[in-house]
Amino acid sequence: MVSTGSKVNWPPIEGVISDLDGVVYRGTTAVADAIEAFTRWQEADVPFCFVTNNSTHTPEDVVRKLRGFGLSIAPSEVVTSAITAAELIRANYPHLTRIYVIGAPSLVMAMRDVGLEVTDRTPEAVVMGLDRDITHEKMRIAVEAILNGAVFIGTNPDLLLPTASGFEPGAGATIAAVAAATQVQPSIVGKPQAPMIETALSRLGTNRGSTIMIGDQVSTDIQAGKRAGLATVLVTTGVPTRQGPSLMAPDFIVSSLREIEVSAARAPQARQRRA
Ligand SMILES: [Mg+2]
Repeated sequence: MVSTGSKVNWPPIEGVISDLDGVVYRGTTAVADAIEAFTRWQEADVPFCFVTNNSTHTPEDVVRKLRGFGLSIAPSEVVTSAITAAELIRANYPHLTRIYVIGAPSLVMAMRDVGLEVTDRTPEAVVMGLDRDITHEKMRIAVEAILNGAVFIGTNPDLLLPTASGFEPGAGATIAAVAAATQVQPSIVGKPQAPMIETALSRLGTNRGSTIMIGDQVSTDIQAGKRAGLATVLVTTGVPTRQGPSLMAPDFIVSSLREIEVSAARAPQARQRRA
């Protein structure tokens, strides 16, 4: 059931997971209500974590951008699809050491940060994200590795990205090309899949039942949150959202984060521990 506007009975909210673009800012412009809401939650010691499908930015990049909008957070409060891919390999394939990466320097860095060797020599896994310098040779190496049995992981399935002057292909478009060539489907860690939400949830250490997922897109944010078993909040500040009969509906719809009533459900000791 969808609750909208005022007179909403909010569940006890112990923690917040939130999308960035379209929720906290639009491109280079801050969403004032959102900055205000997160500042208020920070003062109330409500833990939150931002999640982004963008694998070309590091958490530090996001921290810098939010600081420019007046919100000071720690890098650990940001989980990117690059960080999630690295943590997923560590958790699910602990024996793997050699990874081939098609992606931005931030994706390579995320792999190295968890002790993985980034190499094109007999890689045991291929990780693909958005690579604006992608070549046929890079795709050949990825295809060959996957056909030889390498694990295939994609950061996010976004096919098309808006640019200042139009559109460009997203990571999902090139991941789809390698999937078509190899006839192997990748594991996708970003939204609308659940792994990135799970990584954020484990950072927060909050209960699934009292953690909300906020996003501006039903097809990605809300599906990921629902798949992870969270209550989901659609905020209608972003680009117009695509809905469909096959998509799970959000639990709450708000036009501003100001409408979300966070009543601390967290135990006093837990708050002290975080501080
Ligand atoms: Mg968004």
